[in-house]
Amino acid sequence: MTAPLPQSSVLGLPVHLSTDYVPWLVQQIALGTQIHVVTLNAEMAMLALQEKELYEVIHQAGLVIPDGAGVVWALGLKGERVGRCPGIELVENLLPRLDPGTKIYLLGAGPGVAEQVARQWQARFPNLALVEARDGYFTAADEPQILSQLQCLQPGLVLVGLGVPKQEYLIHRWQEHLPHTVWVGVGGSFDVWSGTKERAPEWFRRNSLEWLYRLYQEPYRWRRMLALPRFALQVLRQGIIS
Ligand code: UDP
Repeated sequence: MTAPLPQSSVLGLPVHLSTDYVPWLVQQIALGTQIHVVTLNAEMAMLALQEKELYEVIHQAGLVIPDGAGVVWALGLKGERVGRCPGIELVENLLPRLDPGTKIYLLGAGPGVAEQVARQWQARFPNLALVEARDGYFTAADEPQILSQLQCLQPGLVLVGLGVPKQEYLIHRWQEHLPHTVWVGVGGSFDVWSGTKERAPEWFRRNSLEWLYRLYQEPYRWRRMLALPRFALQVLRQGIIS
């Protein structure tokens, strides 16, 4: 394993610092290192302060990237100049750089969605091996079969899109069974890659308003999004205390 990336913290949660996470991750996949990649945003950070298990899982992850504008803002208050790295973009930038033959397993989203993404990517990146794609609506009884398939296929990269914190817990439970795999929790990215859902237009992203577009797309998320102002308050409060 190469040297770990330097890290800082936001609300007691680790965040690794880099101007470009892709080359480091490409190297880890080539070396067959076991890594859990967490894409940290304000919502997840606030949940981790409530759920001790999630807090622990994030602390044990091999790579935590600043997925959300809130996390980048909080790091900026500590003098850390780091750019936002949304998980969806990390994966998009990773794929063309992977070694030929790298095995990729997609797990998550509704029936047929991950399969569609796999077909698209296999056509776009014929050098990669999209070994399996399956939806994320399985039961606990299905888990041993999925895990043994994963052990049999030994993918270098597994993308898990079950939403937060379900995907983080699953990765944490399963990663010990695959010692040479990089796992990334990708949330709703399969829906975007398949074209089922649209990502916020560039203007919203540039102005740190992706959350607002999300709220317009999925108004039922309003309660979850209350975590955003709470996160800001908590960061400011901690800055004053420390
Ligand atoms: N999902 C899934 N299995 C489940 C629950 C959710 O595969 O049991 C998928 C869902 O279809 C969607 C993704 O997980 O594709 C969750 O997306 P969301 O944008 O809500 O993720 P988050 O905001 O939590 O990262």
